[in-house]
Amino acid sequence: MRTKLAAGNWKMNGLKASLSELEGMAEAAKGASEVLICPPATLVAAASGAASGDIAIGGQDCHASASGAHTGDVSAGMLKDAGATYVILGHSERRTDHDEHDEDVRAKCEAAWEAGLMVVLCVGESLEEREASNTLDIIGGQLAKSVPDGATGHNLVIAYEPIWAIGTGKVPTTDQIGEVHDFMRARLEKRFGEGVGRSVRLLYGGSVKASNAEEIFAVSNVDGALVGGASLKAADFVPIIEALN
Ligand code: PEP
Repeated sequence: MRTKLAAGNWKMNGLKASLSELEGMAEAAKGASEVLICPPATLVAAASGAASGDIAIGGQDCHASASGAHTGDVSAGMLKDAGATYVILGHSERRTDHDEHDEDVRAKCEAAWEAGLMVVLCVGESLEEREASNTLDIIGGQLAKSVPDGATGHNLVIAYEPIWAIGTGKVPTTDQIGEVHDFMRARLEKRFGEGVGRSVRLLYGGSVKASNAEEIFAVSNVDGALVGGASLKAADFVPIIEALN
C-alpha cells in the first residue's frame, strides 16, 4: 500500500509571514495522505517548527557534496539539520536555469540518501520531445541515468512533470498521464524488482489545481501530486489534499 502524497513546491516564493498558510493546511494534513511543503531554503527551519509534525518539510535542491567551498549552496545534511525530511531534485527549472544534467541529479540523490533525506526526483519531457513522440524515451533515459542504485519506497518518490505543463495551465490528458505513469512503474519494477518497484510513489506535477485534481488522482499509478502555484495558499492547496484523502 503506497501512502498518497500531496507535495507543494513553493519555488522562490515565501517570507516568514507565508508560514501562516501552514496553519490553514494542518487540519487537512491530518488525513490519510501525507502532506509535504518545500519552501525556499531560508524558511526550512522555521517551517519545520511551524508544521508541528502534521506537514513534512523539504528542500528544493541540495549540493552533491556534504560541505565545502560552494558559495550559496546548501547540503543535504544542512537541510536535514534544519528539520527537512525530503528534498526535491532534478526539477526542470534547476535543469534549465542551472544546467543540471541527469548525472548531477544522480550525485545529489546519493548525497541526499547519505544524509537520510527522502528524494522527490523530477522527470519530464519538453513540448518538442512530446510532439516528436519521444516522451517515453526521454522519461526512460532520465530514470535510468538520474536514479542511483539502491532506490526503495522509503527513499525515493518520482514526480512526472511535463515541462510544458508547469505553470502554464496546460495539462496532459488522463490517458497521457496514465501512459507515462504505467511506463515508469514498469521500468522501476524491471530495474529494482517488483517489491521495490511497486513501493515507489509516482506523483504527477504540472498545473494541478482543485478543479482537475480528482480526475488526475483517479489515473492508474498516480500516487499524488507535486504542486507549484496552487500550493502557496491553504485555500488552493487544501482542496487538492482533500481530493487525495
Ligand atoms: C512545479 O513547479 O513543480 C509545478 C508543478 O508547478 P505548477 O503546479 O505551478 O505547474
